[in-house]
Amino acid sequence: MTSTALSRAGSIERMRQRTTPWDIVVIGGGATGVGVAMDAASRGLDVLLVEQSDFGKGTSSRSTKLVHGGVRYLRQGNITLVRDALRERTLLRDNAPHLVHDLAFLIPCHNLWQRFFYGIGLKVYDFLAAGNNFGRSHSVSTDDAVRVLPGLRRDGIRGGVIYHDGQFDDARLLLNMAQTAHQHGACLLNYMAVTDLTKSDDGSVTGVTAIDQETNEEFHIKCRCLINAAGPFCDSVRRMDDATCESMLAHSQGVHLVLPGAFFPGDTAMIVPKTPDGRVIFIIPWHGHALVGTTDTPITNATLEPAPQADEIQFLLNMSAAYLSKAPRIDDVLSIFTGIRPLVKGDKSARTASLSRDHVIRVSSSGLITITGGKWTTVRKMAEDCVNRAVKEANLNSANCKTKSMRLHGFMESPPVNDPRGFYGADLSAITELEAENQELSVPMCKSLSIRKSDIVWAVRNEMARTVEDVLARRTRALFLDSAAALQIAPDVAAVMAAELGQDDTWCREQCERFKSVAAHYVPQQGIA
Ligand code: FAD
Repeated sequence: MTSTALSRAGSIERMRQRTTPWDIVVIGGGATGVGVAMDAASRGLDVLLVEQSDFGKGTSSRSTKLVHGGVRYLRQGNITLVRDALRERTLLRDNAPHLVHDLAFLIPCHNLWQRFFYGIGLKVYDFLAAGNNFGRSHSVSTDDAVRVLPGLRRDGIRGGVIYHDGQFDDARLLLNMAQTAHQHGACLLNYMAVTDLTKSDDGSVTGVTAIDQETNEEFHIKCRCLINAAGPFCDSVRRMDDATCESMLAHSQGVHLVLPGAFFPGDTAMIVPKTPDGRVIFIIPWHGHALVGTTDTPITNATLEPAPQADEIQFLLNMSAAYLSKAPRIDDVLSIFTGIRPLVKGDKSARTASLSRDHVIRVSSSGLITITGGKWTTVRKMAEDCVNRAVKEANLNSANCKTKSMRLHGFMESPPVNDPRGFYGADLSAITELEAENQELSVPMCKSLSIRKSDIVWAVRNEMARTVEDVLARRTRALFLDSAAALQIAPDVAAVMAAELGQDDTWCREQCERFKSVAAHYVPQQGIA
């Protein structure tokens, strides 16, 4: 095992010094790519992962933050997907208890028939979970429904059904997976974009050309096996391999609104399994706020900062108003974030909501392995399948998969429940030590978010944070929780980072400008398409 700190300079140096081909190069630093790097490195393979932006900049920081079997896939009759996901849900909680925890969900019902119908469905969910149950489902009266969900609007509710699933912090889990991969010997780099593939005379893929986004330096990287884990962008990597290949993805975007916690007090979540137009909506307590999502809107182009559409926002506000005793208005929304689902195309007439959430692995005639689809919950299994395939295709010498019982970086058996920084797990004591050495670091940076200077110093020194956005969007979740507060503290964050990175005032100004333009997508009424 190597040191726990992720260092960009250290990874660049390792890449420069490498004279033989890597066993595996992974393109994409989202859940899928980092999952693959972690699995492969822990089997003893030499792995390099390159991410064009920051780890989790794509879909993997913009999920609904549920570790779930998928109640709605049950409705679609996809029993295998649900059963596998329920098993993975338990493995993820056992390997990262500091980030994944049980969450109770209430389905509010409007009549006894609904209570019966959802009650039976959730008994099937319990049954499929078998030994992996997070808690048994049960029916509740209207009084009990309002007691567990004090923010629920009582009109028209005739009791409900409670069941259990998991909740997590996606960007934090991704970082801990990247740290785990690094500790097992993988070399990981953010801000390194693959621009082309290299091939041998017989047309087999032999490596990539990548450009350092900080310096514009070009690297020629060789590997025995190349894995395309570029999520919604995987077709553009496939076209570097074969310019004429058909796209395999249909993109769909999902929008979330973040509201002050007062709109949805308590620690139970709510799911509306079927809105009048057939969608599924969650309202979830998350880091002291309420998360409302999501939509499923087909889009033609994948971009790194997708924009929410006005009707998606209105739909989420309408649904919140229908179920919450205090109806939120757009002015109440603290932040809006949008993610793109990389859905593998099925038959041409299928709606995106009905396309498979299962993962797909494809190997091109040149040997490029593309893995896409799936979901956060099942990423461990996706990675296991993908590395098994890579070992076979490239004839690599590898041990068996080890990730089923592999504790992730930060693992802590009993994380502090009420500490807003409990998500650091075992790292929290090291951050506290930083504060003990320099008390100035323990000062909160703003009233509404529990961010301290120590979090920023820690993110730069240990988590490869390179920009103000990295810190405010993914190392802390400030931008996702309260976009105005994040914008307000951006100059202070830049100053702390500049001191750590040896940067000057010009860098700070540029960082703040860049952050402002990214944050525009999250600020209600600014970034709407
Ligand atoms: P991404 O996270 O998008 O990663 C791909 C990465 O590849 C990007 O960071 C990109 O920058 C990089 N890349 C692209 N091209 C290049 C290149 N040329 N060079 C280098 N890097 C490149 N799943 C759940 O289990 N639970 C949920 O609650 C849940 N909610 C969701 C809600 C929404 C709205 C959406 C959209 C998805 C949700 N999912 C959920 C699914 C889950 O988030 C995704 O399946 C998962 O994040 C996809 O990860 P990925 O690594 O494949 O893609």
